[in-house]
Amino acid sequence: MPELPEVETVRRTLNELVAGKRIERVTVTLPRIIQRPAEPEAFAAALAGHTIQSVERKGKFLRILLDGLVLVSHLRMEGRYGVFAQDEPVELHTHVRFRFDDGTELRYKDVRQFGTMHLFAPGDDLTNPPLNKLGIEPLDESFTLQAFKGQVAHRTTKVKPLLLNQAYIVGLGNIYVDEALFTAGIHPEREAVTLKSPEWIRLYDAIRATLGRAVEAGGSSIKSYVNGQGEMGMFQHQLLIYGRNDAPCTRCGTMIVKTVVGGRGTHTCPVCQPHPVKRGKAAKVVKGPKAAKTKAKPNAK
Ligand SMILES: [Zn+2]
Repeated sequence: MPELPEVETVRRTLNELVAGKRIERVTVTLPRIIQRPAEPEAFAAALAGHTIQSVERKGKFLRILLDGLVLVSHLRMEGRYGVFAQDEPVELHTHVRFRFDDGTELRYKDVRQFGTMHLFAPGDDLTNPPLNKLGIEPLDESFTLQAFKGQVAHRTTKVKPLLLNQAYIVGLGNIYVDEALFTAGIHPEREAVTLKSPEWIRLYDAIRATLGRAVEAGGSSIKSYVNGQGEMGMFQHQLLIYGRNDAPCTRCGTMIVKTVVGGRGTHTCPVCQPHPVKRGKAAKVVKGPKAAKTKAKPNAK
C-alpha cells in the first residue's frame, strides 16, 4: 500500500502533469470505484467541462481541485495514475479515463480495484467522509510537538498501533512507523502514556525526519509502488530497520528481530529499542526462539 511519502510523490507528479487541463469527457468502466455521487454517469457528467487547478493531498487521499469541484481519490493497494496520448492503447485494469481537450488523457489503473473516488462541491470534501475523520497531517505546519502530544500522549494504547491509527495522525504506515520508532529508540509495544518528554521530542523529530527523507527520495517502492511518471522510488535503499530482520542493527550491530505488534509485522533492535517489560534491567539481547517469556500479571483494573 502506498504510504504518505509515496502519495505525496504522486501528488507532486500529478500536479505537474494535469494542472490547467480541461476535462472534456470522463469514462468509467468499473462503477464501484466511484463512491460519490452514487451513479458513475452523474460523476462523469459533473466533471465534463471543468478545469483542474491543482492536486493537493490530505493524508493518503489525493484532492484534485477543479473550478467548482473537488475530486477525492484514494489509491488503496494498487491504484495509480498516468497521463497518456488519447490514441495510446489502454492498459488492462484501467477503470477511469479523464479525457482532456488537448489530446491527452488521465488514466486511473487499479489491479486490485480497491481505490475510491468521491466528488464534492468545494469545502464539502473536508466536512464529509472520508476526509472529515482524519487526524493531524505530519507533513503539515500544524503538526507541532504540542499538537502531536495532544493527540496521542495521554493514551494507554501501544505506541505503534497508535501511530498507525488514521484518526489521530494521517498517513503514517507500517514502514515509516517502524523507521521512526527505531530512529527515536522507542519500543513499539511501549504504552504511549509511559513515554517521557525527551522521548516524545525524539519521536516527533524522527517522524518528521523519516517522512521528509522519504518524500525527498520519492517514496519507497516496497511491493509495487511506482510514482505518477513510472519511476521507482529510491527510499527503500535508505531504510534503517524495515525489512532488515536477521541483519545487524546499523547502530549497534545486534540482530534485528521481527515480531507482530497490533497485527502488523514489526522490526525492532532489542538493544536500541528496549522492551517495556525488560526495560530497567540492563538491556540484554534475548537470544533463541521465544526466550524466557515474562508471565504477564493480570491487569488489575
Ligand atoms: Zn541497535
